[in-house]
Amino acid sequence: MQFYNLKENDEVVSFAQAVKQGLGKNQGLFFPEKMPAFDDIESLLALPFVERSVKVLAPFVQGSLSEKELSSIVTNAFNFPAQIQPISEHRAILELFHGPTLAFKDFGARFMAQCLQTFSKDKKITILTATSGDTGAAVAHAFHGLANIRVVILYPKGKISLLQEKMFTTLGDNIETIAIDGTFDDCQALVKDAFNDKELAQTIGLNSANSINISRLLAQVCYYFEAVAQLTRQKSKQNLGDLVVSVPSGNFGNLTAGLLGKALGLPIKRFIAATNANDTVPRYLSTGDWEPHETIATISNAMDVSNPNNWPRVEHMIKSGLVEGCVSAQSVDEEETQITMIQLAKLGYISEPHAAVAYKALQDCEDNEFGVFLGTAHPAKFKEVVENTLGQPIGLPKELADCAGEPILSIDMAADFAQLRDYLMSAK
Ligand SMILES: *Cc1c(COP(=O)(O)O)cnc(C)c1O
Repeated sequence: MQFYNLKENDEVVSFAQAVKQGLGKNQGLFFPEKMPAFDDIESLLALPFVERSVKVLAPFVQGSLSEKELSSIVTNAFNFPAQIQPISEHRAILELFHGPTLAFKDFGARFMAQCLQTFSKDKKITILTATSGDTGAAVAHAFHGLANIRVVILYPKGKISLLQEKMFTTLGDNIETIAIDGTFDDCQALVKDAFNDKELAQTIGLNSANSINISRLLAQVCYYFEAVAQLTRQKSKQNLGDLVVSVPSGNFGNLTAGLLGKALGLPIKRFIAATNANDTVPRYLSTGDWEPHETIATISNAMDVSNPNNWPRVEHMIKSGLVEGCVSAQSVDEEETQITMIQLAKLGYISEPHAAVAYKALQDCEDNEFGVFLGTAHPAKFKEVVENTLGQPIGLPKELADCAGEPILSIDMAADFAQLRDYLMSAK
């Protein structure tokens, strides 16, 4: 399949090119040229996760990956489950945090890493990325140990939690981490400078692992299929009712993937985009005016985004009729988030702020609807706020406990592009 640029529609590229390029001309996002038709969704749903995911992804990657390559990529990338957990009679959570870095970003990052490695063949490439936490860990683990790929991750020194830092700075090998004396914005500016430096980009085969990469979104479509598959297995159709999915949203990649799933034929009635106080989208859907405010820091910090970079894809799907009249949005404030975490704990489920925002947004569901919300991170990743809110200690899962004792391998650097350039040019 071909992918076209939503801003510069003449730019049409293969899946491989879209993955390598990330963004199109004029910062445009790539989008599939047409939606494949799956005639028999029910038999697709009956398949095991990995096998089904290969079938769902095959039409999108056709021409860039053989069936055999795709199958091995998916098997390597999706080596952990997506799990439906019942919460109450009409509610369930889709737990997406059973991967190596305990967040849903593992699905997309691992699939993209495997694709990039396949496409770069024997050419050496350098992945340069800036992180304020979760993305760095997912990217580092996804690329760790892959031949011919050097990964350099920048992060603001002293501005992320120690546990978060340990999750990506202790790996070593092909994963290099730099603690920048500055803010996250400084880190992002350095990455931008590097991509604008054509000589540097050419010499080191520069590539990004950005969340707007189409491969990450397509990977995420697969767990929406898995959610519907598990729910229909657990309940008969009549008992299930109409499915409503609430997505805790920051950059809106997860929502985009869900809508793609619906466009492919998944029986989901509607979606709720749940945000924290960063409510650009809820305001936009009610007023029609796109007016990002200054970003507000919240306890669901992975959603502290005021200008979500995947929104043009959502808007395109709504306006082109691919998914009409099935998206609403709701903003949930800090107090409501904490109250909701306590309510969930009373139902026997220890959650974290992002999932709580999504659960809260399901409150207006009707009796004939069944509400699923996405669990995007393991509660232990937000240990402090979870413990403070619930007033009880929570344990560390093995993935976090293992790296907590390892030494941090980062080097320090000023927020100075000349220094970063020298570092990147020096072959490792
Ligand atoms: C990244 C992230 C989100 C937001 O996902 P988007 O696809 O950017 O909307 C939500 N929760 C957690 C824990 C995240 O890491």
